[in-house]
Amino acid sequence: MIDFADDAQDLIAGYRRFRARRYREARDLFRTLRDGQRPATMIIACADSRADPSMIFDSAPGELFVVRNVAALVPPFEETGGWHGISAAVEFAVTQLMVKQVVVMGHGGCGGIAASLAAAADRPVGRFIAPWVEIAADARDAVLADSTIPREDWQEAVEHGAVGQSLKNLMTFPFVQAAVESGELNMDGAWFSIGKGELHWRNPETGSFSVVAAEDTQADQDNKI
Ligand SMILES: [Zn+2]
Repeated sequence: MIDFADDAQDLIAGYRRFRARRYREARDLFRTLRDGQRPATMIIACADSRADPSMIFDSAPGELFVVRNVAALVPPFEETGGWHGISAAVEFAVTQLMVKQVVVMGHGGCGGIAASLAAAADRPVGRFIAPWVEIAADARDAVLADSTIPREDWQEAVEHGAVGQSLKNLMTFPFVQAAVESGELNMDGAWFSIGKGELHWRNPETGSFSVVAAEDTQADQDNKI
């Protein structure tokens, strides 16, 4: 099943498949997009190779402004200097592209969230990973403090909680808060089950997640009418 091994030839072969199929189909679209992008949606997702937003949402070029990092985390607004890659992307999406929605999407079996749990057990992972996943520390600690959540559910509960934490952190950016309060920007959370290929959507009131129907039965009925 491994199409991409350690050889650049695998990438070149993939590029040629792209040129022969998807690019050929979307050639006019790429030409139209040459002078600029106007995506209405920003997705913040994990870098994990198994949870690719453009595949899950079946999007075309120009439709999704995607930022991926370890565990799909957004840090809080900071005024200190530093290499604020995610903050720069959020700023660009909200103030320049003026996206209409931001979706933070976590996923099952997230290694970054596992690293956060390992850190809580005094087994920090990585010189850069360990401090990065501390962004999810409050969400993780809330799960660990909740005796109703069994140990085998910790990982998924923290994956869900971390999405909520990132949404909360997004609101600490003044331009995000202003756009949300004026009704120009919506924010949502999602979580993808890799094993089942299922998308789960976050309820903004309760913070709980529920599975999204894989087929739009309403649209089917509408089509019949
Ligand atoms: Zn992940």
